[in-house]
Amino acid sequence: MKIVLLGPPGSGKGTQAHLICEKYNLPHISTGDIFRANLAQGTELGKKAKEYMDKGALVPDDLTISIVVDRLSKDDCKDGFVFDGFPRNLAQAKKLDEMVTLDKAIMIHLDDEEIINRLSKRRMCKGCGNPTHLDWLVNGKCEKCGGDVYQREDDEESTIKSRLEKQKLPQDVIDFYKQKGIYEQITSTDTKEKTFILLDEILKKI
Ligand code: AMP
Repeated sequence: MKIVLLGPPGSGKGTQAHLICEKYNLPHISTGDIFRANLAQGTELGKKAKEYMDKGALVPDDLTISIVVDRLSKDDCKDGFVFDGFPRNLAQAKKLDEMVTLDKAIMIHLDDEEIINRLSKRRMCKGCGNPTHLDWLVNGKCEKCGGDVYQREDDEESTIKSRLEKQKLPQDVIDFYKQKGIYEQITSTDTKEKTFILLDEILKKI
Protein backbone atom coordinates (compact mmCIF):
# COMPACT_ATOMS: atom_id res chain seq x y z
CA MET A 1 0.00 0.00 0.00
CA LYS A 2 1.68 3.17 -1.22
CA ILE A 3 -0.14 6.24 -0.06
CA VAL A 4 0.31 9.98 0.22
CA LEU A 5 -1.86 12.00 2.57
CA LEU A 6 -2.44 15.56 1.40
CA GLY A 7 -4.09 18.40 3.28
CA PRO A 8 -3.45 21.62 5.15
CA PRO A 9 -1.52 21.69 8.40
CA GLY A 10 -3.95 20.65 11.15
CA SER A 11 -6.20 18.57 8.91
CA GLY A 12 -5.17 15.49 10.87
CA LYS A 13 -2.73 14.02 8.31
CA GLY A 14 -0.23 13.05 11.00
CA THR A 15 -2.84 11.50 13.28
CA GLN A 16 -4.41 9.56 10.42
CA ALA A 17 -1.01 8.46 9.13
CA HIS A 18 -0.27 7.00 12.58
CA LEU A 19 -3.60 5.13 12.54
CA ILE A 20 -3.08 3.75 9.02
CA CYS A 21 0.46 2.64 9.83
CA GLU A 22 -0.69 0.89 13.01
CA LYS A 23 -3.50 -0.98 11.25
CA TYR A 24 -1.57 -1.92 8.09
CA ASN A 25 1.91 -2.12 9.61
CA LEU A 26 3.48 0.41 7.28
CA PRO A 27 6.29 2.92 7.77
CA HIS A 28 5.14 6.50 8.33
CA ILE A 29 7.22 9.00 6.39
CA SER A 30 6.72 12.53 7.65
CA THR A 31 9.18 15.03 6.18
CA GLY A 32 8.26 17.44 9.01
CA ASP A 33 9.17 14.77 11.61
CA ILE A 34 12.47 14.09 9.84
CA PHE A 35 13.33 17.81 9.85
CA ARG A 36 12.36 18.10 13.56
CA ALA A 37 14.47 15.05 14.45
CA ASN A 38 17.45 16.60 12.62
CA LEU A 39 16.85 19.86 14.43
CA ALA A 40 16.82 18.09 17.79
CA GLN A 41 20.07 16.31 16.91
CA GLY A 42 21.66 19.59 15.77
CA THR A 43 22.60 18.30 12.28
CA GLU A 44 23.48 20.63 9.39
CA LEU A 45 20.24 19.61 7.66
CA GLY A 46 18.27 20.49 10.78
CA LYS A 47 19.93 23.91 11.04
CA LYS A 48 19.21 24.70 7.39
CA ALA A 49 15.60 23.50 7.64
CA LYS A 50 15.00 25.57 10.79
CA GLU A 51 15.52 28.84 8.89
CA TYR A 52 12.49 28.05 6.78
CA MET A 53 10.39 26.24 9.38
CA ASP A 54 10.60 29.21 11.76
CA LYS A 55 9.10 31.45 9.08
CA GLY A 56 6.36 28.99 8.24
CA ALA A 57 7.91 28.60 4.77
CA LEU A 58 8.64 25.44 2.84
CA VAL A 59 12.14 24.00 3.06
CA PRO A 60 13.77 24.10 -0.43
CA ASP A 61 13.07 21.13 -2.69
CA ASP A 62 16.69 19.93 -2.98
CA LEU A 63 16.94 19.39 0.78
CA THR A 64 13.46 17.92 1.09
CA ILE A 65 13.79 15.57 -1.87
CA SER A 66 17.19 14.34 -0.68
CA ILE A 67 15.74 13.19 2.66
CA VAL A 68 12.89 11.42 0.84
CA VAL A 69 15.27 9.64 -1.56
CA ASP A 70 17.30 8.50 1.43
CA ARG A 71 14.23 7.35 3.40
CA LEU A 72 12.75 5.43 0.46
CA SER A 73 16.01 3.52 -0.01
CA LYS A 74 15.50 1.82 3.39
CA ASP A 75 14.34 -1.79 3.45
CA ASP A 76 11.13 -1.13 5.39
CA CYS A 77 9.71 0.89 2.47
CA LYS A 78 9.85 -2.00 -0.01
CA ASP A 79 6.24 -3.09 0.40
CA GLY A 80 4.57 0.21 1.15
CA PHE A 81 4.49 3.41 3.15
CA VAL A 82 2.37 6.38 4.10
CA PHE A 83 3.70 9.84 3.23
CA ASP A 84 2.51 12.68 5.41
CA GLY A 85 3.51 16.23 4.44
CA PHE A 86 5.16 15.24 1.16
CA PRO A 87 4.68 16.21 -1.63
CA ARG A 88 3.80 19.85 -1.11
CA ASN A 89 4.40 21.09 -4.66
CA LEU A 90 4.44 19.77 -8.22
CA ALA A 91 8.23 19.33 -8.40
CA GLN A 92 8.10 17.08 -5.31
CA ALA A 93 5.09 15.17 -6.69
CA LYS A 94 6.88 14.52 -9.99
CA LYS A 95 10.07 13.42 -8.25
CA LEU A 96 8.13 10.98 -6.09
CA ASP A 97 6.37 9.69 -9.19
CA GLU A 98 9.76 8.86 -10.75
CA MET A 99 10.67 6.78 -7.72
CA VAL A 100 7.48 4.86 -6.86
CA THR A 101 4.01 4.01 -8.16
CA LEU A 102 1.45 5.32 -5.72
CA ASP A 103 -1.89 3.61 -5.07
CA LYS A 104 -3.70 6.66 -3.77
CA ALA A 105 -3.21 10.36 -3.01
CA ILE A 106 -5.82 11.26 -0.43
CA MET A 107 -6.73 14.83 0.47
CA ILE A 108 -8.03 15.46 3.98
CA HIS A 109 -10.01 18.66 3.65
CA LEU A 110 -10.64 21.13 6.49
CA ASP A 111 -11.83 24.78 6.56
CA ASP A 112 -9.31 27.49 7.52
CA GLU A 113 -11.19 28.58 10.66
CA GLU A 114 -11.22 25.06 12.06
CA ILE A 115 -7.52 24.62 11.15
CA ILE A 116 -6.52 27.61 13.29
CA ASN A 117 -8.66 26.37 16.17
CA ARG A 118 -7.12 22.89 16.00
CA LEU A 119 -3.50 23.91 15.52
CA SER A 120 -3.48 26.34 18.42
CA LYS A 121 -4.59 23.45 20.66
CA ARG A 122 -2.32 20.81 19.10
CA ARG A 123 0.36 19.26 21.28
CA MET A 124 3.03 16.70 20.39
CA CYS A 125 4.07 13.79 22.59
CA LYS A 126 7.76 13.67 23.56
CA GLY A 127 7.45 9.94 24.13
CA CYS A 128 5.69 8.38 21.13
CA GLY A 129 5.60 11.31 18.69
CA ASN A 130 1.79 11.19 18.60
CA PRO A 131 0.21 14.47 17.54
CA THR A 132 -2.46 15.11 20.15
CA HIS A 133 -4.79 17.88 21.34
CA LEU A 134 -5.31 19.76 24.60
CA ASP A 135 -8.80 18.25 24.95
CA TRP A 136 -7.56 14.66 24.52
CA LEU A 137 -4.83 14.72 27.19
CA VAL A 138 -5.23 12.58 30.30
CA ASN A 139 -3.99 14.48 33.37
CA GLY A 140 -1.98 16.69 31.04
CA LYS A 141 -0.16 13.70 29.49
CA CYS A 142 -0.37 11.91 26.11
CA GLU A 143 -3.56 9.83 25.99
CA LYS A 144 -1.70 7.03 24.21
CA CYS A 145 1.52 6.51 26.16
CA GLY A 146 1.34 8.88 29.16
CA GLY A 147 4.34 10.88 27.87
CA ASP A 148 4.92 14.61 28.37
CA VAL A 149 3.63 16.85 25.63
CA TYR A 150 4.88 20.11 24.11
CA GLN A 151 3.65 22.72 21.66
CA ARG A 152 5.45 22.92 18.31
CA GLU A 153 7.04 26.37 17.80
CA ASP A 154 5.32 26.69 14.45
CA ASP A 155 1.93 26.11 16.09
CA GLU A 156 1.96 29.65 17.56
CA GLU A 157 -1.01 31.54 16.09
CA SER A 158 1.06 34.04 14.04
CA THR A 159 3.06 31.23 12.40
CA ILE A 160 -0.07 29.19 11.76
CA LYS A 161 -1.53 31.99 9.62
CA SER A 162 1.68 32.37 7.66
CA ARG A 163 1.90 28.59 7.13
CA LEU A 164 -1.64 28.55 5.80
CA GLU A 165 -0.85 31.35 3.35
CA LYS A 166 2.55 30.10 2.26
CA GLN A 167 1.81 26.38 2.28
CA LYS A 168 -1.54 26.06 0.54
CA LEU A 169 -1.25 22.93 -1.57
CA PRO A 170 -1.04 24.09 -5.20
CA GLN A 171 -3.91 23.03 -7.45
CA ASP A 172 -1.41 21.57 -9.96
CA VAL A 173 -0.51 18.83 -7.43
CA ILE A 174 -4.18 17.89 -7.11
CA ASP A 175 -4.60 17.95 -10.92
CA PHE A 176 -1.49 15.77 -11.30
CA TYR A 177 -2.99 13.05 -9.11
CA LYS A 178 -6.46 13.44 -10.66
CA GLN A 179 -4.96 12.86 -14.09
CA LYS A 180 -3.37 9.68 -12.80
CA GLY A 181 -6.76 8.55 -11.51
CA ILE A 182 -5.52 8.06 -7.92
CA TYR A 183 -6.90 11.21 -6.25
CA GLU A 184 -9.49 10.91 -3.46
CA GLN A 185 -10.84 13.47 -1.02
CA ILE A 186 -12.45 13.17 2.39
CA THR A 187 -13.46 15.87 4.87
CA SER A 188 -11.91 15.74 8.32
CA THR A 189 -14.57 15.09 10.99
CA ASP A 190 -14.74 16.09 14.66
CA THR A 191 -13.09 12.85 15.81
CA LYS A 192 -10.05 10.97 14.58
CA GLU A 193 -11.96 7.68 14.74
CA LYS A 194 -14.72 8.90 12.41
CA THR A 195 -12.19 10.37 9.99
CA PHE A 196 -10.29 7.09 9.99
CA ILE A 197 -13.45 5.17 9.04
CA LEU A 198 -13.83 7.40 5.95
CA LEU A 199 -10.19 6.93 5.06
CA ASP A 200 -10.26 3.20 5.61
CA GLU A 201 -13.16 2.81 3.17
CA ILE A 202 -10.74 4.02 0.49
CA LEU A 203 -7.82 1.92 1.73
CA LYS A 204 -9.83 -1.30 1.86
CA LYS A 205 -10.40 -1.03 -1.90
CA ILE A 206 -6.68 -0.95 -2.73
P1 AMP B 1 4.77 19.44 8.98
O1 AMP B 1 5.13 18.67 10.21
O2 AMP B 1 4.43 18.55 7.81
O3 AMP B 1 3.72 20.50 9.21
O4 AMP B 1 6.09 20.22 8.54
C1 AMP B 1 6.72 21.17 9.37
C2 AMP B 1 7.57 22.09 8.53
O5 AMP B 1 8.61 21.34 7.87
C3 AMP B 1 6.81 22.80 7.41
O6 AMP B 1 6.17 23.98 7.87
C4 AMP B 1 7.93 23.08 6.41
O7 AMP B 1 8.71 24.19 6.83
C5 AMP B 1 8.80 21.82 6.54
N1 AMP B 1 8.38 20.76 5.59
C6 AMP B 1 7.80 19.57 5.89
N2 AMP B 1 7.55 18.86 4.78
C7 AMP B 1 7.98 19.62 3.74
C8 AMP B 1 7.98 19.46 2.32
N3 AMP B 1 7.46 18.36 1.73
N4 AMP B 1 8.51 20.43 1.56
C9 AMP B 1 9.05 21.54 2.12
N5 AMP B 1 9.04 21.79 3.45
C10 AMP B 1 8.53 20.84 4.25
